[in-house]
Amino acid sequence: MNDYKHTTLNRLLFPSTRYRLVLSGIIILMLVAAYVFVYFTGGTRNGYLHVMYIPVILGGILYGWKGGIFLGIFGGVILGPLMPLNTETMEMQAFYSWTMRLVFFSLSGGLVGFMYETIRAKVRQVTSLYTHDLTTGIKTFNYYWQNNDPSDKRADKVSVSFHINNYESLLVLLGSSEYATLLENIHSRIQGFLPEDSDIYLVDRRLFWIDTSKESFKAIRDDFARIMEEEVIYSESVPLYLDFSIGVSIPDTDKTASERFKESDIAALHAKKNGLTFAVYHDEHARDTLLIERLGALPSALENEEFFLVYQPIIDLKTDKVSDVEALIRWRKNGRVLTPDEFIPLAEETRLIDFITEWVLEAVFKDHLRFEKDFKHIGLAINVSYRNLFNATLIEKMTTMIKNAKLEPDKIHIEMTESTLMQNRTTTQVFLSSFRSEGVQTILDDFGTGYSSLSCLRDLPVDTVKIDREFTMNMHGDSSMYDMIATIIELSHKLGLKVIAEGVEDVEVLNELKTLGCDFVQGYYYSKPKEIEDLIKYIRNQKA
Ligand code: C2E
Ligand code: CA
Ligand code: CA
Repeated sequence: MNDYKHTTLNRLLFPSTRYRLVLSGIIILMLVAAYVFVYFTGGTRNGYLHVMYIPVILGGILYGWKGGIFLGIFGGVILGPLMPLNTETMEMQAFYSWTMRLVFFSLSGGLVGFMYETIRAKVRQVTSLYTHDLTTGIKTFNYYWQNNDPSDKRADKVSVSFHINNYESLLVLLGSSEYATLLENIHSRIQGFLPEDSDIYLVDRRLFWIDTSKESFKAIRDDFARIMEEEVIYSESVPLYLDFSIGVSIPDTDKTASERFKESDIAALHAKKNGLTFAVYHDEHARDTLLIERLGALPSALENEEFFLVYQPIIDLKTDKVSDVEALIRWRKNGRVLTPDEFIPLAEETRLIDFITEWVLEAVFKDHLRFEKDFKHIGLAINVSYRNLFNATLIEKMTTMIKNAKLEPDKIHIEMTESTLMQNRTTTQVFLSSFRSEGVQTILDDFGTGYSSLSCLRDLPVDTVKIDREFTMNMHGDSSMYDMIATIIELSHKLGLKVIAEGVEDVEVLNELKTLGCDFVQGYYYSKPKEIEDLIKYIRNQKA
């Protein structure tokens, strides 16, 4: 039994057959008991006859106004001509007296019955609004929850999510009411081939959920996508294309309906992403959901100081000593250290990236205070996301922090990737120029990945070009890559720019870069990114 549905109010409003039978029995017993009670307390003269209101009202509740009136008349009669005024003298009641009472009984029963009927109708109406889509009348997800126990775990059930991928464009093309018709068509299409034990619900305007059994799913699996592909939609007699993805939950494990639905929904999204029409859930698909969870954990990560910085030395090839260090963020989360690729792109989708950049600047300047006296020549490179540039308050804050930092502005290097600079040229140029006017150095990061022509370099407000590690790592043995790097270095020098090559992992590459006159290198050959203590030791050892 589904307890959540059977509240006392629900039991009285919509009694089950069993409950109805029990109540009917109780009413009959009460009628008999009321008769016996009144008779043995001396007849109607004593006034105990009011007990009759109880079964009459109950009758109204249970059977509506007709039942209420019927029981009122019945009660009126058995306590009327069939009941003496005084059981000792057997004197009977006056006609007008019992008929008036009969009228009152019937009115009470009828009125209560009428009220209950009205309430029942209203509740049905509200429930229907809540469990059916307003425009299409299709059962919604709430319908499922109304009629099923959410905690019920089943291994034989399968959930199928039908996701309409081109929802937005269809809505624009068709308009809202035509789109509703389309939903109705899709609904009846699917309904048409669903086996008996299955049902379909509308979750939102782009998603249907099918609740079916493992066996039934097997029967429809092969036809599902095919039948739906045949669905042709017309707008102004132009046939449109319905782009959809179907996701299926894994059968055979005990799962609640919402767990099954979550699986099929994730599978459908995975199918959509990968251009498939069909996917069965796999744990891998949950990565996207994990990402969302990770995003949710970001704000508290800032509060709980779960971020920390590591620093990678940048080596000056003239002296073979550390000239700068690049700050790279890490996130210590549940015992695992996440690299920036696992959360920076996510944070960039939200304003959180602004808080992260602010945090990085603060942390870098704080760490810098630990640098020893003879490290003063070492510069600090900080990665700034182009998303940060849209926040004027943050830029102001950054400017203040840089001014207040205990190091020369030219020892602060701001790295922006080439691709973002090219995509948001005006914004990034204004930003980099304004920082340069404060004396800060600017680095064009990941150079080679952003498709800017070499001639662009002349106009960009940057001091240094950092060749992307993909290039450096492949230069050895690839002559065209080698030539390209040679050209970048030569041209940059002609334009008065310095060159860093990142991703230097072996001595062959290092020697080639030296031959080409590259100014700085960064990479595992010299050092992996290090925490501040180890970095200080590293620099100290190099000095010695
Ligand atoms: P990036 O700016 O290109 O940073 C260099 C990345 O290359 C670092 O990865 C570093 O660990 C890695 N690397 C360095 N030398 C070598 C090498 O010899 N071989 C190989 N295979 N890899 C090498 P990491 O730390 O995972 O950072 C990845 C990216 O995340 C960075 O790329 C940067 O774009 C971004 N990032 C890191 N820290 C921050 C930050 O504080 N703020 C922002 N907005 N982005 C950051
Ligand atoms: Ca960088
Ligand atoms: Ca880079």
